Amino acid sequence: MLFLQKLSRVPLTSRSALQGVTGVIVFSLKLLDGVHVGSGELNLIVRDLNAVKRFSREILAKKNIERVGAEIVNLISIGLKFVKLGTKLCIPGSTLKGVVRTRLELIAGKRGSGDTASACLTFAGPPLTKLPTPGSQGWRHARIWGRAVSIDREAESYLEEEFVSELCPICNLFGAPGVASRTLFSNACCDNCSTHVCTVSEYNMRLEILSPGTVLKGSIALRGVVVEELGLLLIGMGFDGNNFKPILIGRLKYAGEGMGRALFSLEKLIVAIYSVDYLEKLGVGVKQGDEGYVVEGDELKKLVYTAFAKARERYPDIEPFSEAEEKERISQQLNLVRCS
Ligand SMILES: [Zn+2]
Repeated sequence: MLFLQKLSRVPLTSRSALQGVTGVIVFSLKLLDGVHVGSGELNLIVRDLNAVKRFSREILAKKNIERVGAEIVNLISIGLKFVKLGTKLCIPGSTLKGVVRTRLELIAGKRGSGDTASACLTFAGPPLTKLPTPGSQGWRHARIWGRAVSIDREAESYLEEEFVSELCPICNLFGAPGVASRTLFSNACCDNCSTHVCTVSEYNMRLEILSPGTVLKGSIALRGVVVEELGLLLIGMGFDGNNFKPILIGRLKYAGEGMGRALFSLEKLIVAIYSVDYLEKLGVGVKQGDEGYVVEGDELKKLVYTAFAKARERYPDIEPFSEAEEKERISQQLNLVRCS
């Protein structure tokens, strides 16, 4: 039976309001596992061209079709390439934003067990009526997120309204059709970072992965984001009130052993002059330096703790959760595939 959650809405924030924090968060993302985020570019990798040609002739002649079919699979695989910018390798900002937003949408409504949810899941597929059986599409994801993927939520349909006056807090912050986002994620990149190619035999796929230990740098631009919304963003990035917990990113993040775990950390926040007053009223010290108005060190910690507390108070159904830790906890059940 499906469980129906009510949606808790907030008034639409004016996209030009000079409120809260406008500025740039500078972050680093440390990979704890191998991570692959593809550029979408595929290349066919052929191990023995002569053998493939010979098999092709046999197929055309309708000879030994079953044997050829079985053998050709071992000779051809699909290679997935990483996103590159010059010498840098990058995880696209759109991927990072998608991960953070989706985490919040799944976490909202106490991961499926609360009566109301502060997220509408506008972009999600239909809820699951039963847990998929092992081996079927998305079964590992469903086991990790449990009830969160089985609930039915009141949905928003912004496209049908001429003027949006109220919407879910996540769409208000991250945008929706016709509603601009107030967070902009840059690509997270690393220079001279080490990668290796590994094969996932189950999917006959060759992936170029960034090695564990790689540190990527990126930033998130904020526009008129109030403190409780900053708290939401931090929970989406894995903050649990004390520390950032690992989150899962990239291809095969749910299916792969040693794939996908990454950890955010914040370096500093650079803010516009008109946000200084707002931060000082929160008790957060802002320093004026070469880069402009900067919050860092203990003052940044203070802001992070305050933002988290305000978000928990304002949106109690959004509780911190680490799907990466849950994956580790139930990894035996999940039959994780290792690439090599
Ligand atoms: Zn929404």
